[in-house]
Formats: sequence, structure tokens, C-alpha cells
Amino acid sequence: MRHERALSEYRRRRDFSRTAEPEGGRAPAAAGEPSFVVQIHDATAMHFDFRLEVDGVLKSWAVPKGPSADPHDKRLAMPTEDHPLEYRDFEGVIGSGEYGAGTVIVWDEGTYRNLSEDRAGREVPFADALDRGHASFWLDGRKLRGGYALTRIRNGDDGDREAWLLVKHADSRAHEDGGTDPRRARSARSGRTLGQVSGSVS
Ligand code: MN
Repeated sequence: MRHERALSEYRRRRDFSRTAEPEGGRAPAAAGEPSFVVQIHDATAMHFDFRLEVDGVLKSWAVPKGPSADPHDKRLAMPTEDHPLEYRDFEGVIGSGEYGAGTVIVWDEGTYRNLSEDRAGREVPFADALDRGHASFWLDGRKLRGGYALTRIRNGDDGDREAWLLVKHADSRAHEDGGTDPRRARSARSGRTLGQVSGSVS
């Protein structure tokens, strides 16, 4: 199956006897609109993980500064390996020595709609839009709302890592955004901060 092959890199990087992260492959086929999740990951470098459900997996980007509601902010988004759908439920601590060691909280979650169109205004299937390097979508999250675009700015062929930009559309949901302090941010699931999930503060 396509998503089994897509998850091979995810599984190769992890020892599931040592991490509480999901091995994947057991999520029921989703009904209705596809999901998205944004996690905050206090790893070697603090970052946000932006994930969109596409063809049975979570397409994933590490966004160092996190999504912004301000269309003037162009947020660097570095692609990471596809994650299993079950990962949208993951909140907890990845132990030291394991891949991605550090604490994870679910910062936002919801569904999205594909807004990607070709020059003639015809809808482009979302997976095709990503393959072409430009995808537009409408997020209906608890925190993030409105249109966003992901655009590939480096294809990674010349030795540099592949890189994308995540940018808010100038629409009715755009507004100034002072940014999200990841250490003060609270889980959309549990209301907890990173420190509370890690156990370093009560
Ligand atoms: Mn991460």
C-alpha cells in the first residue's frame, strides 16, 4: 500500500520498543475532510511540526517559528518524513537518545479543505499540488483559521536541503500576529504546556 511505503523512513528512524510514538498503520480510513495537526516539539532545536493528512499519511514540515496569521510573514518550512495518521494524537516525551528526543504537545488540530487551482481556475488534487511545489488550503483549526499556502523554494537537488515557505493568505482571517511563544503555548488537547507534559513543572 502506498502509505506503508511512505512510512518506511519514519519507522527506520525509530525503535518502537523505546518510544511511545505510534508505529502507524492502524488508523481507520477518515470520513469527511482531511485532518491537520500542529505540534510543538522541544527537541535539539525548538520547532513546530505542521502536518497535513494526504493519501493516508501525515505530510510533515518542521516550521522553526511556527505558522503566522500575518500574510507578511514567510515562515520557513523544512520537509520531514511522512508520519502515520495516529501521530496526530501524540503528546508526550520522546526519551533521550531516541530520534527526535524531547517533549511534544498538540498545539492545534482540525480539518482542511484544498484550495489549490491551476491557472485556468480548475481544482488541482492536493497531492498533485504538493508534487508541483505549490498547494493552497483552508484550515479549520481551534487556533489556525483561513487560507494558507505552502510553496517549495528549494528542491534539494543542488545539495541544499529541500525547503518550503508557509504563508497566510490575505483573507478575512488574516491578522497581525506577534508569534507564539512555544514555552507558554498550551495543548489544544489537554491545556498543558511543554513543561507540564515533560514533568519539569507542575
Ligand atoms: Mn519535530
